Amino acid sequence: MDKKKHHLKFGSSLSYAPAPETTPVPLKKQYELFINGEFVAPQSGSYFNSVNPATGKRLARIAKAEESDINLAVKSARRAYEKVWGPMPPAERGKYLFRIARIIQEKARELAILESMDGGKPIKESRDVDLPLVAAHFFYYAGWADKLKYAFPGKDPRPLGVAGQVIPWNFPLLMAAWKIAPALACGNTVVLKPAETTSITAMHLAEIFQDAGLPPGVVNIVSGAGETGAALVEHDDVDKIAFTGSTAVGKRIAQSVAGTPKKLTLELGGKAANIVFDDCTIDQAVEGVINGIYFNQGHVCCAGSRLLIQESIHDDFVARLSRRIETLRVGDPLDKNTDIGAINSKAQLKRITELVKTGEEEGAELHTSSCRIPEEGFWHRPSFFTGVTSSHRVAREEIFGPVLSIMTFRTPAEAVSLANDTCYGLSAGIWTDKGSKIFSIADQLKAGVIWANTFNKFDPTSPFGGYKESGFGREGGVQGLSAYLS
Ligand code: NAD
Ligand code: MN
Repeated sequence: MDKKKHHLKFGSSLSYAPAPETTPVPLKKQYELFINGEFVAPQSGSYFNSVNPATGKRLARIAKAEESDINLAVKSARRAYEKVWGPMPPAERGKYLFRIARIIQEKARELAILESMDGGKPIKESRDVDLPLVAAHFFYYAGWADKLKYAFPGKDPRPLGVAGQVIPWNFPLLMAAWKIAPALACGNTVVLKPAETTSITAMHLAEIFQDAGLPPGVVNIVSGAGETGAALVEHDDVDKIAFTGSTAVGKRIAQSVAGTPKKLTLELGGKAANIVFDDCTIDQAVEGVINGIYFNQGHVCCAGSRLLIQESIHDDFVARLSRRIETLRVGDPLDKNTDIGAINSKAQLKRITELVKTGEEEGAELHTSSCRIPEEGFWHRPSFFTGVTSSHRVAREEIFGPVLSIMTFRTPAEAVSLANDTCYGLSAGIWTDKGSKIFSIADQLKAGVIWANTFNKFDPTSPFGGYKESGFGREGGVQGLSAYLS
């Protein structure tokens, strides 16, 4: 077969018939707050819209919680902590968590569709990655509920009380699971605030809590934007704050919590180095780099957003990347063939395009897939920059979109110093054929999670969290329990 034909056959010019998800979705026109086991209207009567980023159109109206609603939610969490959840035998708490995990599995398909509609991620990710991990997280922490003293031998671990949790929009249900499951397993109660662009699945999770018979007040969910989050963080009767989101907001939260008895964990941004050595299996590394940056439109705090390639294979690697991004299918998140969905919001698309512009202005060379993108909604073609230096903004700042920054190195020592030359330290990747190189490089990288010959793999048993401005505290694994115990 000649080369051109081959390219046509597998390239983006060939259009498959759309294969949309057809499970009926229980989308509602309006979502209320979940306080004390019931869905209640916000006291102010205010609502805001959540849009479908693939169309830019409104999906539903979402209740906006203000201070008085937060007061009710915290009060209900406090009561549940003191009267029901705290005193409950740990094995009983575990049973609720197992029940929640099973119901999530039963409803996984509809939850995946709602997640893709509200957030823009491709259905193959929400269906095959997010939802299985959400259920797995509840199963995993359900198992710990009655074994805490074995997790911390010789100690008498106690819950902290009421946990206030604020989460982002990139993995709405998964972040809710990461926060809620360990908190409950340790005997705490929760007030959770989802992100304003992706509140819908959190409210469906609340229905699952009702179905599971979770006692009222054990989990409360209050929707709203930054002000709602700030009101929760600043509430006097909250014992613990857990936040995932931008470094800027994380810093503000750290300031507001300082000097109070509140415990705090922060999971913030990242600018991970994905280091490719010349002895790697090159096509496998290309796939890993693609997954590392384009997974979930690059809306991933641990995305492999800086590619460090050993100089001798740079040109070959870049040529393969160019060919590969042409074959990525960008479009309808509900189409099972879609690789890259919609950018989560208009505001995020603006942040991405502005930062990409600085890359071009500062002299890096932008390579972009020639794919067509839908006319409505928020989209960004998969792209990468070559000729990037460490001083470029696209090498230092989180783009949080499907845009990769490529640099080169000659020696392992240079790779390590480039990789660590960042204010972040959430994750990193290493691609090499040599096991000894993996261990020696990993040892020198200042990053919380390091993948070798793979990327963006998650498991509830592995702790996740950062160094430096990527935050502190760990989520997942045994380590994730200590964030919710004293
Ligand atoms: P953000 O930090 O503003 O939002 C995250 C969450 O914090 C949301 O629920 C939001 O309502 C809430 N929030 C906002 N201001 C708050 C405050 N003062 N007090 C308490 N809660 C508050 O993030 P964003 O504006 O949606 O995104 C901006 C950038 O942040 C992105 O471009 C990306 O670089 C980064 N980001 C990182 C992550 C991550 O997982 N680390 C997630 C989302 C965004
Ligand atoms: Mn939305």
